[in-house]
Amino acid sequence: MDADIERVLLDRETIRRRVQELGREIAQVYGNPGENRLDERAGVTLLPILSGSIIFLADLIRELPLMMKLAFVHISSYPGRSTESQPHRTLLELTGDVAGRHVLIVDDILDSGRTLPIVQDAVRQRGPASLRTCVLLRKRGKAPAKLKVDFVGFEIDDLFVVGYGLDFDDLYRNYPHIGVLRAELMS
Ligand code: 5GP
Ligand code: MG
Repeated sequence: MDADIERVLLDRETIRRRVQELGREIAQVYGNPGENRLDERAGVTLLPILSGSIIFLADLIRELPLMMKLAFVHISSYPGRSTESQPHRTLLELTGDVAGRHVLIVDDILDSGRTLPIVQDAVRQRGPASLRTCVLLRKRGKAPAKLKVDFVGFEIDDLFVVGYGLDFDDLYRNYPHIGVLRAELMS
């Protein structure tokens, strides 16, 4: 895989340290609800957007000393590439406990900001106790400023990145750093 990466943007140690900090930031905001099963303030549900956020999620939750549940959301666009002239529609599947709970959406990267509001609206419709969003990466100046995100790991330039869960054609998710793919591989 190394040979396919033009340059490493964030190495695994840099990511590890920032995820640790994010864990502290998040734990502070939630006021440490539910340190144990009997704490009635418990009620945090982390909601990763599949599949790009799975590696981030796995690392982040082990930095969070909170009682929590996981729910999962998968969002896909259809029709596919071949029929892009047709109206863009999305299929959203959400499984798990979000009604009445403190929901934290976890995503890998915020780019144009088209996907996230769809997931945020779907959660709101289910009546969460609160709703916040955490993204590992945000591309500078791309998403509309009004799109609210509560926690951001890193601001990056507008480049296509892979690794640490982020894919190209479903590959490179297991690359341990976050890097820029060689341009000729994407054509
Ligand atoms: P948005 O709707 O904000 O434009 O894009 C959100 C989704 O597009 C992300 O969750 C991610 O799955 C994908 N995406 C956007 N930028 C990148 C990128 O640089 N690399 C990869 N691998 N996926 C990206
Ligand atoms: Mg995604």
